[in-house]
Amino acid sequence: ARLTPGTPVLVSGVSRRYGSKTILDRLDLHIPAGQFVAVVGRSGCGKSTLLRLLAGLEKPNDGELLAGTTPLARSQDDTRLMFQDARLLPWKKVIDNVGLGLRGNWRQDAYAALAAVGLEHRASEWPAALSGGQKQRVALARALIHRPRLLLLDEPLGALDALTRLEMQSLIASLWQEHGFTVVLVTHDVSEAVALADRVLLIEEGKIGLDLSVDIP
Ligand code: ATP
Ligand code: MG
Repeated sequence: ARLTPGTPVLVSGVSRRYGSKTILDRLDLHIPAGQFVAVVGRSGCGKSTLLRLLAGLEKPNDGELLAGTTPLARSQDDTRLMFQDARLLPWKKVIDNVGLGLRGNWRQDAYAALAAVGLEHRASEWPAALSGGQKQRVALARALIHRPRLLLLDEPLGALDALTRLEMQSLIASLWQEHGFTVVLVTHDVSEAVALADRVLLIEEGKIGLDLSVDIP
């Protein structure tokens, strides 16, 4: 059984403008529950903007974003956004970075989340002792502890070397298989998009310019 059912996402007629610049222009998108979507497009086309809207970090000028039937901005607890740089707090140990902001008895969950990314043995170290790839895995554990129904990843692997990147890709793929959350991954790397996702979206001129299903043999 899937641990966390993914949430369906419905984006309808969403526009986002910064000043006189229209970044997203009446964008429509439906993501079925549990689908793994990769978003590609030229620098500045609005990929991170779309993720921030999906995370409820900013509001659209027009249109609406729903998780199932709930406005996405109000279901933020289900949503985790992971950026390219992991931003761990250097003065908190690895385990405390995973449990950041949680109350109550979170330690066991934090160990479980660290175990899921293969880092339980580094729990009591300082972030400075970790490599870039390990920091990314801690950031992933920090997302997993919330049992997200929608996982938003903004270029999470961009700074990693090729081999570590490959390891992280297979970790993300296996966590997705296991948990069943919906994933939206922004990446510059089209081959990464095709390798990981069910579906690849190209953002162009504020809209979905290309929507490709990827058949995994
Ligand atoms: P990249 O691949 O380089 O990360 P992106 O597709 O993620 O690019 P966004 O960060 O979504 O692009 O930015 C889209 C456009 O919106 C850019 O032209 C950017 O300069 C502009 N923009 C983003 N945030 C703001 C803001 N807070 N105020 C003004 N303009 C912004
Ligand atoms: Mg971006």
